[in-house]
Amino acid sequence: MYWNPFVEKMSEKDLKELQLRKLRQTVEVAYKYSPFYRELYKRENVDPSDIKSLEDLQKLPFVKKQDLRDNYPFGLFTVPLSQIVRLHASSGTTGKPTVTGYTQADLELWTESLARGMFSAGMRSDDVLQVAYGYGLFTGGLGFHYAGEKIGATVVPISSGNTQRQLDLMRDFGSTVIGCTPSYMIYLAEFAEKAGISIQNDTKLRMGFFGAEPWSEETRKRIEDKTGIDAINVFGTSEIGGPVVTECQEKAGIHFWGDIYIIETINPETGEQLREGEKGELVVTVLGKEGMPMIRWRTGDITAIILEKCACGRTHPRIERIVGRSDDMFVVRGVNVFPSQIEYALMLLPEVAEHYQIILERDEAGVDTMAVQVEINPAVKDQYFGQGKVGELEKRVSEHLRNHLNVRPKVEILEPESLPRFEGKAKRVIDKRKL
Ligand code: ADP
Ligand code: ZN
Repeated sequence: MYWNPFVEKMSEKDLKELQLRKLRQTVEVAYKYSPFYRELYKRENVDPSDIKSLEDLQKLPFVKKQDLRDNYPFGLFTVPLSQIVRLHASSGTTGKPTVTGYTQADLELWTESLARGMFSAGMRSDDVLQVAYGYGLFTGGLGFHYAGEKIGATVVPISSGNTQRQLDLMRDFGSTVIGCTPSYMIYLAEFAEKAGISIQNDTKLRMGFFGAEPWSEETRKRIEDKTGIDAINVFGTSEIGGPVVTECQEKAGIHFWGDIYIIETINPETGEQLREGEKGELVVTVLGKEGMPMIRWRTGDITAIILEKCACGRTHPRIERIVGRSDDMFVVRGVNVFPSQIEYALMLLPEVAEHYQIILERDEAGVDTMAVQVEINPAVKDQYFGQGKVGELEKRVSEHLRNHLNVRPKVEILEPESLPRFEGKAKRVIDKRKL
């Protein structure tokens, strides 16, 4: 059993007391041992003695990606390298990768957090976990690896890619749980189908932990319908540890363990703290992280906090599904659009497949244009292609997107398998304005 009701069902009052105690300690240690934090706090005229309540957290400045880049590679570490037992780096989706260093205790904290989440989603020691996240500097592979072992499951460290082998081992070893990006799961299911294998009937797979990139509720439905598995949302960033938090079996938001993390949402423009339920940028403070403290880390990810007690009985706060990063958002003719909104709207239409791409361009007049390319669902291909009806469908999809987004994109319906597939994080937006 990997379930700790004493911690996971702690009363709000006890949890807050614990958080304050750990927060003060965390800030003190950072101030004392990290030149980065000391200089930052001196510059902002704050010091650890200012933290008298949880609200005082707001007195502390944020830490941003740029801080990590400016102090590349080890500038935020508080301990000598002799105490750092592992290094990781972010995927570098938005620029130069950032480096993170872990002490032995940091690795244990990360593993504890993820193992708790995976157990809450229903994973047990008799499960066989196929880790199809990449192993290496990316935190996905090793994060799931150790959390799976912690639960006592049988871990298959296959890493990402080599789809035929993934399917072979899934059947040979009887994998019951998989971890990979949602886009890779879609590809894996498609690959299996083409090989005449049904994930639902020919494998024992029953659950998947999908994250590392935004995905929509409609995509969850598609994965679940296609494969018969439970699709669980998992979140993390390398700076806060790696993949660290997941949904429980209720699939109603991701539990952020309050004894390990303090979460806030802020208005990304003003930095002002938002209330429960208001969408804004997620800011995470990791309590007791030793090697590289993260105090008020701006994740860049847009979500809202849920404080209401979950039906599972766990008292810790949750976050809603992430809409995307604030810098994923683009403005087309004055309207703000997140790629995940396009995905959500597209996946409502049975005529299209899960593979899509968004192309942003700027025309001669300096006006931004958005084109959405999406593959047709192979099951209805002959009704449109060859019948000269693709144009009609394109118009209909474009109208449907306009209703959801308030801006009309150009839509191109493509033949099956014309867009790239991804083994890790999918690249959905091609921004030709930046080329
Ligand atoms: P990089 O920032 O270079 O991609 P990471 O590999 O650490 O670095 O990835 C973390 C980022 O991945 C998060 O900040 C978030 O944008 C995205 N991400 C991770 N899990 C999810 C999820 N479940 N839903 C949406 N986005 C996610
Ligand atoms: Zn729950």
